[in-house]
Amino acid sequence: MEACGVRSRTNFVPRRQGDRGSAFEDALDLLAAMVAIPTESRKPNAALVDLVSERAEAAGADLKRVEGPAGRANLHVRFGPEAPGGVLVSGHTDVVPAGSGWTSDPYQLAVDGERLLGRGTADMKGFIACALAVACRSDISGWTAPLHLCLSYDEEIGCVGVASLLSRLAVDPLVAPRVVLVGEPTELTLCTSHSGKVTYTLRASCDPGHSSLAPTRTNALDQVVAVARAVIEVGSRAAEVGGSTNVGTLWGGTAVNVLAAAAEVSFECRHQYCSDPQEMLSGVWSQVEKARSAMSKLEGGLEVVCDTRYPALFTREDDPEVRFLADLTGRSCAGHLPFGCEAGLYAEALAVPAVVFGPGSISNAHRPDEFVTRKQLVETCSTLRVVLDGYCRSGCPPRQAPDPNRRHASADPIPNMRFKT
Ligand SMILES: [Zn+2]
Repeated sequence: MEACGVRSRTNFVPRRQGDRGSAFEDALDLLAAMVAIPTESRKPNAALVDLVSERAEAAGADLKRVEGPAGRANLHVRFGPEAPGGVLVSGHTDVVPAGSGWTSDPYQLAVDGERLLGRGTADMKGFIACALAVACRSDISGWTAPLHLCLSYDEEIGCVGVASLLSRLAVDPLVAPRVVLVGEPTELTLCTSHSGKVTYTLRASCDPGHSSLAPTRTNALDQVVAVARAVIEVGSRAAEVGGSTNVGTLWGGTAVNVLAAAAEVSFECRHQYCSDPQEMLSGVWSQVEKARSAMSKLEGGLEVVCDTRYPALFTREDDPEVRFLADLTGRSCAGHLPFGCEAGLYAEALAVPAVVFGPGSISNAHRPDEFVTRKQLVETCSTLRVVLDGYCRSGCPPRQAPDPNRRHASADPIPNMRFKT
């Protein structure tokens, strides 16, 4: 209802205990409970993991919790038999900070007609709530293959938290799903590719000095600026192969009349599946070498750290599992996602096709008044219902065992890419 330009908005009211309702109504209650736990990245998510664990355990699931730092944890829930095959459904529990501009409390699920508002509703607690609700209502006694529900932390800061979970899943031969579904907001289309990303911080240091020495002596800020300029320059060539670079932060120095003793720049490179980010950044690495040499002449130092990295995803649209999923659900394939997520990491770790599918739109994620619609959640529940019937019930054997040699079990999210010069 809308009157005089003021929208009618109410806080969501959960059902009374004992009201059986539907999977969708279970999902609504779960979503409200999850939104009320402000799991911003780098903050504890233990209360949310506890909530999911409690519900899943009551429904007969098997749980493995992988503890992380400071009250954060990943969770692997298995519904159904301990066997290869089935489907792995994944979600991240963290959300970006609420920020300002909300017209209701971001950490209280609000109802505005068809829309359900709150931080994380689209990205991606709505999907997690639907997956848990549908799984908990399933008769798993009739399943011959499992559903793996995997939840991670700190995805929003570069898919950092999921690494320790993947390193365990990748060495478990009984975690061999036919397909991975990652529930990022795609407006319920099946997306089969996304870009990869790598991020770095470069720090330079040397002795300070009087700025009058500038004509004859470089300083830390000069060198960091030169590297930042190289990042910008390679960006235009990166765009030619569907990639990009960005200088995110830059700082250094203490005063206008002092040669800067310390400076720092952070930057990223996004790339397509077929492109090597190291090759795209080769012009940057040449500049880093020049900067290193300049700093060493001043007996200073230079350090480059790879902060985060996730690979690009490329699942063929004609992959038999994608075709099976599309036929099963009646959902169309929308191809490439405009943002990155954990799907590439799952595909790499488990050597299986991964597809991104979830309610909500990326256009209102990470913004004030983030929302999903009731219709999207209803459709997510019904789609997941047919996915579980198609992958886990009897008569659905694993199509083909994934090749364990193609798995990537490294616990380090940034293998071989941390270095100092
Ligand atoms: Zn997300």
